[in-house]
Amino acid sequence: MPPKKLFRNKSLLSVCLFLLGGGWLSLGFPGPAKESAATVSPSNPTIAPAPEATDNTAITTRDRSLFEQNLPSGFPLPEASDWVAQRLLKEHGAVFVAQDSVVHMPSVIFAHAEDCAHWQAQVSTRREKIGNIPVELQTEAMKALLAARQEAAQKNLRITPRGTWAARRSYRDTEKIWSRRVLPGLAHWQQRGKLSAQEAARIRGLETSSQIKEILLLEAQGLYFSKHFSKSVLSSASPPGASQHIAMLALDINEHSQPTVRAILARHGWFQTVISDLPHFTYLGTTQERLPALGLKKTVKHDRVYWTPA
Ligand SMILES: [Zn+2]
Repeated sequence: MPPKKLFRNKSLLSVCLFLLGGGWLSLGFPGPAKESAATVSPSNPTIAPAPEATDNTAITTRDRSLFEQNLPSGFPLPEASDWVAQRLLKEHGAVFVAQDSVVHMPSVIFAHAEDCAHWQAQVSTRREKIGNIPVELQTEAMKALLAARQEAAQKNLRITPRGTWAARRSYRDTEKIWSRRVLPGLAHWQQRGKLSAQEAARIRGLETSSQIKEILLLEAQGLYFSKHFSKSVLSSASPPGASQHIAMLALDINEHSQPTVRAILARHGWFQTVISDLPHFTYLGTTQERLPALGLKKTVKHDRVYWTPA
């Protein structure tokens, strides 16, 4: 869809600004909070001291948030105009500062199934059958999971995968999961008289990247696409090509409501990083104490701790 049509009126434009949320502040736009964050290097050996602002390069380095400084070397930050990728990095991006010897996805989102499959094929993974369900994760993530399961077993607790899509997902899997949210959502909002049949059909027919934008724009107007149409689709699904499950560093579990299980997982480098995605855990490969130094901030919601890009 051409940008002109996308911003066809002022309210849509403001919706887009709303969608960006605090993203612009932390993703490349100067601000006092970031300057102070970028200068707390002495306690963090991976962060270079803030250079003098003598040229443009120095200014860019200084203005990067702590989270951005901890992204993999050469990681392409989304363009300022790409608010979808910016929002995904903000809400699902904790995985990109995972430590240990994990391999990172080359960008926030894979545009094509082939690129995604090619990347996945090059990553070292380990497969295990857990409770009859095949689970595939990056090798380090699987080792940590098995150690966590062992610790849980000593306390008579279990950590089990939630269905066959609990760990690794292909691009096609993420497409299917996205459709399972978007199609019922469009039908629901049409039924409620919030969308015309024509508009719903038009959005159904859009190619993926345009459809993602349209769905997030509708959500900014209160038309949500989560399972019960009450919150953002991003709280329980990723757009095609963008999932932490594609990175093979995420696992959905059945026992997520048990605080002891969450504490065990955290001790082994597994944390909750997508706010309100209750079964979802992400391998960050480090200790909880180290997470703030990676530019992640702690949010406590309904007694759960989530770590997301600050
Ligand atoms: Zn998940």
